[in-house]
Amino acid sequence: MDTSQKLCSSISIATEERRRRKKVKMRGKDKHESETPHVLIFPLPAQGHVNSMLLLAELLAISDVHVTFLNTHHIHHRLLQFAGNIEARHPTLGFKTFADGVAQDHPRFGGDMNEFFNHVKFQGSLKLRELCSDHSGKPRITCIIADGMFGDISSDIGDELGIPIIHFRTASACSFWSFFSVPVLLQSNELPIRGEEDMDRVITKIPGMENLIRCRDLPSLCRGTHDGKFSLDTVVFQTHQSLRAQALISNTFEDLEGSVLSQIRNRFPKLYALGPLHAHLSYRKASKTPSEEEPPPSFTNSLYDVDRTCIRWLDAQPPKSVIYVSFGSVAIITRDQLMEIWYGLVNSKKRFLWVFRPNLVAEQEAKDLPLELVEGTKQRGCTVGWAPQQEVLGHAAVGGFMTHSGWNSTLEGVVAGVPMLCWPNFGDQQINSRYVSEVWKMGLDMKDLCDRKVVEKMVNDLMEERREEFEKSTQAMATLAKKSVREGGSSCSDLDSLIEYLRSIC
Ligand code: UDP
Repeated sequence: MDTSQKLCSSISIATEERRRRKKVKMRGKDKHESETPHVLIFPLPAQGHVNSMLLLAELLAISDVHVTFLNTHHIHHRLLQFAGNIEARHPTLGFKTFADGVAQDHPRFGGDMNEFFNHVKFQGSLKLRELCSDHSGKPRITCIIADGMFGDISSDIGDELGIPIIHFRTASACSFWSFFSVPVLLQSNELPIRGEEDMDRVITKIPGMENLIRCRDLPSLCRGTHDGKFSLDTVVFQTHQSLRAQALISNTFEDLEGSVLSQIRNRFPKLYALGPLHAHLSYRKASKTPSEEEPPPSFTNSLYDVDRTCIRWLDAQPPKSVIYVSFGSVAIITRDQLMEIWYGLVNSKKRFLWVFRPNLVAEQEAKDLPLELVEGTKQRGCTVGWAPQQEVLGHAAVGGFMTHSGWNSTLEGVVAGVPMLCWPNFGDQQINSRYVSEVWKMGLDMKDLCDRKVVEKMVNDLMEERREEFEKSTQAMATLAKKSVREGGSSCSDLDSLIEYLRSIC
């Protein structure tokens, strides 16, 4: 062989070797990619749902699971506007969006919920099917985690395309179980509720909740009035659709809702209780950061413009002197209710920080406010359009939380160890507030009452008369909540099992 032949031969050997190595590498890559779970997460487009499902998305992404988060354009735009650049939070967390099919200025869930829900279901199912059938991008979707409110469409698409489905019900386990039990209540004549005089009748047929719940504590949809909210049939139907899912996720923890979780497991054996998700994410992020580095940034998942001026106001108040008042992102109150609560707060003589969302009150006509309210608020109050809620609840000046008992707010109150004065508005809030007051003994339930004298008395009971009693149980539960998300805690091991399951099915 002459030199040039030798050279050609060694080049071709080298090329061959490179090809072989590349092939091995590609095989390795394919193998790796085919073993990487890719989860598509599809939330109901409302603040509470998006918040908890985005927390889950981040928890999975930091555990090396590929996540695609499916948002409506509207929600995505608001997140980009108010929660910062969510697209840069983690390299394995991506976003896809679709048009929800209503006009830009439509009130969405602030209007007729059923009508909007049907629009989102239709448009969302088209996008979901498109993304799940698209095999061009790698890695392909190996599992759908859908909001349990999309139980039917997500299960249909999963069945059709052979993709495993997990349902995530973002509300409390006690509300999920009460919705699931509605058919039993109808068969045993415990439902329907027969008017106002029937409201204190005790419900006996929900397994695990015997004699704890009165008619008034059932999810508000059981009252038969839905004022543009979801119908009971819709929610019960979607709840039962979860029997078609391979697994169920709940944002709760064993020490909080263990007795209900064990009932649910009788029907849903693969149940992952991962909550409180906000505490879980903070803990996992911090534990992944080497101690010499800066702690990871804590993000908000806010769809509204956060007004941080209230933190400066709180800094100037004595410890545990302020009651924080917030009714979440959807609840709407009447002008009469507003005045009763406002008078109650001012007359209690306690300091208060009140989230006064622009669309909080149904009737917006501006009447002159009584001078005593204006003066009382100037002296002891602060109002904002939207607060950094978790930071507020963790502030040393906050000693109580007047809440509508939305599930995210309840969990945030639990983790912060702040006693609650509950004034539930709709949906799961009626049963959550019953558990806060009667099971967990973490506060008072003002359900179905709205009178300035009652508000004044309950604020004083919470902040003064019965403060020690409530603080004791709330702080004990806060400790258990934090324990549940640490190494060896129930939510921590459920998350590990979920990730293992996600790997096993791809
Ligand atoms: N929230 C907030 N600032 C506010 C009021 C609420 O950040 O001024 C957040 C709160 O921390 C919670 C969510 O909005 O995470 C409300 O969810 P929740 O389930 O309590 O009630 P919903 O809005 O769904 O009725």
